Amino acid sequence: MHDIACMESYDPATGELVGRAKIVSPSEVREAVARARAAQVSWGRLPVRARAKAMVEVKRALVRRADALADVEVKEQGKSRFEAYGAVLNQIHLLNYMRRIAPRVLGPKKAFPLFGLSRVHRIVREPLGVVGVIAPWNFPFTLSFEPMVAALIAGNAVVLKPSEYASQVGLAIGALFETALPKDLVQVVTGGAETGRALVESGIDKLVFTGSVRNGRKVAAFAGEKLVPVTLELGGKDAAIVLEDADLDRAAAGIAWGANLNAGQACLSIERVYVAEAIADRFLDKLAENVRALRLGPGESADADVGAITTEAQLEIIKAQVADAIGKGARIVTGGSSVENGGGRFFQPTILADVTDDMLLMKEETFGPVLGVVRVKSAEEAIARTNASSFGLTASVWTRDLSRGRALASEIKAGDVALNEHAAPAGLAEIPWGGMKDSGYGKTRGEEGLVEMSATKHISWPRVRSKREMYWFPYSAQKLAKLRLALHMLYGTWRDRLLALRGK
Ligand code: NAD
Repeated sequence: MHDIACMESYDPATGELVGRAKIVSPSEVREAVARARAAQVSWGRLPVRARAKAMVEVKRALVRRADALADVEVKEQGKSRFEAYGAVLNQIHLLNYMRRIAPRVLGPKKAFPLFGLSRVHRIVREPLGVVGVIAPWNFPFTLSFEPMVAALIAGNAVVLKPSEYASQVGLAIGALFETALPKDLVQVVTGGAETGRALVESGIDKLVFTGSVRNGRKVAAFAGEKLVPVTLELGGKDAAIVLEDADLDRAAAGIAWGANLNAGQACLSIERVYVAEAIADRFLDKLAENVRALRLGPGESADADVGAITTEAQLEIIKAQVADAIGKGARIVTGGSSVENGGGRFFQPTILADVTDDMLLMKEETFGPVLGVVRVKSAEEAIARTNASSFGLTASVWTRDLSRGRALASEIKAGDVALNEHAAPAGLAEIPWGGMKDSGYGKTRGEEGLVEMSATKHISWPRVRSKREMYWFPYSAQKLAKLRLALHMLYGTWRDRLLALRGK
């Protein structure tokens, strides 16, 4: 039975109850933000090095609890144990990386502006205050933890609203910080859209929203109204382009992985393939061979490749898109059906050929283990069709000619383009992450991910004492003449300079 103030989450691979979490009310959200704000004051005043040092405790807790964290993510979200464990490893590295770069990236910088040399200039990066993090269900650990780490090292407090389908992961993240950092600095508010809305409207100083385009637009509209800075990590419809000179064995294995990691429930998973006509049959055979070999099963099992579909609603979207494609003439190469075994919810890794641009599968995010394959006459056609999507998150080009590949990569409107690989390079701690177009704006990870968690401020003071500045009132013809001379001497040609010196 549902408790009105609680929600439950279930293991998508077995249907078993994983845990209950409170639905935090809007007034409780505001209280959590107020507690975080109070705790931030002394944390924000600590030198960057001291904050980076304090995060060592979080790292230790993460290493100690790696198995438990991977367990809860496997149970609540359904991903394979290998992927859940890899995510923990990646986040330990991210934390270390952020700790290492923070003193340099956030530390004060000197500046020597040409028209301000009489003053000393410092550029400093200060904390913003309270950062709200709203996370989705598909990578509930990574997409909560990584913006939290950057926000905290930059001197902010954090209030996390995990997905309603991954509350237990959110609570486990909260417990990681609880023992390691000052009391109240990190708050976790569990609940659904209403709790998320309350967090957006609670007076936070920055929001990192990862989720659907539909909800991204809503939070961005509110943030726009209140002028709250927001980072939006939204959906994708990512394409892989396979050229005629590609290493087909590598392309087939890599694309099978890139399309089916996390059962395709990844913003950066491949959902479209544009393959050169000359090699399309050979590529499709190899791709089908790779995809047929994937083992579907509960993430608990160490040798399951493709795990469960996290939510019933997601399974319905996948089924509807496949049915729509078949109805419009697509051909199933492999897969195509859901598998519901023992209360679990799975979808067969699927390849569809003969797909056309009017099919939902080629336009909307599928977020499942389904790949549409299209034959193209040229690389230019592949690029044009890749860019025709409203999304712009990731893409890949598969070719042996890396210089041609790089030239094509620069034509693709996406936040991350890889040659002969997909997805993994986009997930690296050192690399700024974020999309273009409907896939959102702002960056997490990399140096930019840290900078975006801070407010850049300029402080200046005089090098020497003086009574007045030349540009203060009163203005005069003599001052104007000096200004004119300076403009021509600095930026004019030799002729302009000569004329200016002669007063012309
Ligand atoms: P979602 O938009 O349904 O929910 C995301 C989060 O927002 C949840 O915590 C939800 O409770 C909350 N929320 C919903 N409505 C809200 C509102 N009006 N105000 C504030 N919060 C609200 O998305 P989802 O289904 O959880 O996640 C899947 C989506 O996330 C996919 O579109 C996927 O592509 C995208 N995603 C993007 C990235 C990226 O880095 N670009 C990464 C992972 C997932």
